[in-house]
Amino acid sequence: MKDMSFKNMSIKRRLTLYYTGVLVIMALIVCAFIFLSAGTQVRSVAKDNLMQAVQNGFDDITYENNVIEIDSRFDSYYRGVTLLVYSDQGDRIKGSMPSGFPATTPLENGEFHELETEGDDWLAYDLFHTYDNGKGIWIRGIYTLDTGTDSIAAVGLLMLICLPLFVVIALVAGHFMAKKAFAPVAEITGAAEKINSGDDLSVRLPLGKNKDELYHLAETLNEMIDRLEKAFIQEKEFTSDVSHELKTPVAVILAQCEYALKQGESEYKEALENVKKQCMRMLSMIQQLMQVSRTINTVNSLEREEFDISMICESVCDEMSSLASENGVTLEGEIQPDVLYKGDETLIMRMLINLVNNAVKYRDKSGERQPFVKVVLKKDETITIKVIDNGVGISKENRERIFDRFYKVDKSRSDEDSFGLGLSMVKWIAEAHGGSVEVESVPEVGSTFTIRL
Ligand code: ADP
Repeated sequence: MKDMSFKNMSIKRRLTLYYTGVLVIMALIVCAFIFLSAGTQVRSVAKDNLMQAVQNGFDDITYENNVIEIDSRFDSYYRGVTLLVYSDQGDRIKGSMPSGFPATTPLENGEFHELETEGDDWLAYDLFHTYDNGKGIWIRGIYTLDTGTDSIAAVGLLMLICLPLFVVIALVAGHFMAKKAFAPVAEITGAAEKINSGDDLSVRLPLGKNKDELYHLAETLNEMIDRLEKAFIQEKEFTSDVSHELKTPVAVILAQCEYALKQGESEYKEALENVKKQCMRMLSMIQQLMQVSRTINTVNSLEREEFDISMICESVCDEMSSLASENGVTLEGEIQPDVLYKGDETLIMRMLINLVNNAVKYRDKSGERQPFVKVVLKKDETITIKVIDNGVGISKENRERIFDRFYKVDKSRSDEDSFGLGLSMVKWIAEAHGGSVEVESVPEVGSTFTIRL
């Protein structure tokens, strides 16, 4: 069964209900106001009418030589007001008392009487007029308020009848308005479901024409899907690259084992050495992969702290000096002192080690020139680190690809630690710090890697 509780209702429905509720409350307030003010209004109009009618009544009455003369124009029922004429003794001379009006109501000059009898509301007004002869007469005007209140009641009834109709109109209009406003949401949901069910990350959410909140939401979600898609592609490539890299040493190990088993004992040693070499290579690869994974984790939750980057450059030079001299490479530093930088110290150090390591690894081995590596740190508007070597250099087509993961210029190269991962890490680290890395290189002359932070 569909859950119809308010909490689980769609926003569209909830909005319609809120909106209708507010409209109904407003309509009720307006009705109440009209009722209340209409009652007062009816009374005040009635009083004016009454006073007017009574005052006009005197125009048609004269009192001469002790004779009261009432003109034939005298209208004892004037604009809904019944007029009664009394002598100064209080005897009724003209007009008939409306039935139901309490006849005993005393005459009081200039006073309004509001009287309630069974089923009727009365308003009466008395006025006494004195003539030149010292005598006077009373006129009493009587008005029944029911005429006014009846029409208010009729309006009220009409309003009450109209209210449900009004609610229905508000509900329908609200529903359509909400539906129109939420149409992009339905579209976004549809597209998101398509992505979800089809596992197709290349689909993007529709952006809509107006640059409203939903546009920005869809835009942000699209950026998120972009990142997810990239991550998925990288993940796929990574798995296939790793499997590919591990397949070669395992195949060699297998071949060596089969060969040794077929041959005599004397071939065991050679075969085992080959097996060991391949195992070392796999171990080295696993270590580098772990390093990559650590780098990715740290890059994703990068914590920046200020540190002395000059000192880091110095210590990398120190650390790598023995590797350099073992390989006959002169390693020197040209490091501007006391340069401070806010970033992840360990990652920056890893980046430098990778670059210096490569510079040593890809040195010139022809013996034509003395291999050297130079680490330069300089600070002007930005911090620039250069790792310069006079090694084998990199051709133009390779320069564009060396930062890709698992890309090796010399595919046949099977050193224990060459997997094409070092420079991809350098790139991630530089970019994670908002920096960049670039390379200039001339084959057989040397290469310069420049990091800008
Ligand atoms: P790896 O060194 O493990 O192969 P890298 O990602 O560090 O992987 O480097 C990718 C490729 O770039 C290397 O195969 C190498 O050919 C080339 N390369 C890197 N640094 C240098 C350098 N300083 N001089 C010449 N070639 C280099």
